[in-house]
Amino acid sequence: QAKAVGKACYAVFDQTMHRHALERLQLENDLRRAIETQQLQVHYQPIISMDTGKITGFEALLRWYHPQRGMIAPNYFIAIAEETGLIQTIGQWVLREACQKAKLWQLTFPQFPSLFMSVNLSIHQLTYPNLVEKVAEILTETGCDPRYLKLEITETAIAQKAETVIPILEELTQLGIQLCIDDFGTGYSSLSRLYYFPISTLKVDRSFVSGITQSTNGTTKIASAIVNLAHSLGLEVIAEGVETEQQLATLRSWGCQLAQGYHWAKPAASPQIEALLASCPCWQ
Ligand code: C2E
Ligand code: MG
Ligand code: MG
Ligand code: MG
Repeated sequence: QAKAVGKACYAVFDQTMHRHALERLQLENDLRRAIETQQLQVHYQPIISMDTGKITGFEALLRWYHPQRGMIAPNYFIAIAEETGLIQTIGQWVLREACQKAKLWQLTFPQFPSLFMSVNLSIHQLTYPNLVEKVAEILTETGCDPRYLKLEITETAIAQKAETVIPILEELTQLGIQLCIDDFGTGYSSLSRLYYFPISTLKVDRSFVSGITQSTNGTTKIASAIVNLAHSLGLEVIAEGVETEQQLATLRSWGCQLAQGYHWAKPAASPQIEALLASCPCWQ
């Protein structure tokens, strides 16, 4: 009898696996057509200067509006894009869109003359042969000044392939752009190694920021240590995912310069961002 039950389980498992595989294949195909059918959009989340309360830059975040499934989370479809190699085309498209907007917004909103644009780069893009040439090409094509472009690479990605990646990072900085370690604190890389990466900015992962509470709990202590470490290495710090006044006040007391989060603004499409910039918000 146990055998029969076992067999039945297998059958069910098989069917579920089959369904998942099919679904996935379908999504892959859909993703291939997503750019040309304009289902992909770049949203932008403001990054705020803690000193002035003003917008100093944006992070570009990719969105996929699937005609049947609605919004699909980037954490899910970017993995598909990476496995299929589509990340190259999609990533270059995001970079071009973001650089275009950076240039346009600097021109349209002279009260924000030095807005920067931060774009996420997957490890698959970073290790792709012609990345540096492509980035240079896109900068020229869009007229975006390289010093206003930041590229974000996750700590996990860098830590896994440090030897391969460091020379590429060096080449990228020679273009005049800035590099940023994303999701810092989640990758278990040794803190001392950070010193050898040619980066200008460190983004403290949201999981640490959301752990900042009134009491001096463990997470708060770690977050504070990360900010201190970054500062003593001469790095700029961006806190991710700030949602409360409490988190903001604590980060500010640690001397953290920049932050993004729902406390100020969620990522939004460019027309909304343009309306926001036009209103010249100052959060104090
Ligand atoms: P990330 O680079 O760490 O981006 C920050 C994520 O935190 C974004 O999620 C953003 O919407 C979210 N976030 C910002 N502030 C808050 C807050 O106050 N509370 C909460 N709960 N969340 C907040 P999103 O847009 O879903 O993106 C998820 C991840 O997908 C990104 O994490 C990034 O790793 C990846 N991603 C997004 N766009 C791209 C892209 O164009 N290329 C690549 N390679 N990866 C991308
Ligand atoms: Mg990021
Ligand atoms: Mg991040
Ligand atoms: Mg994160």
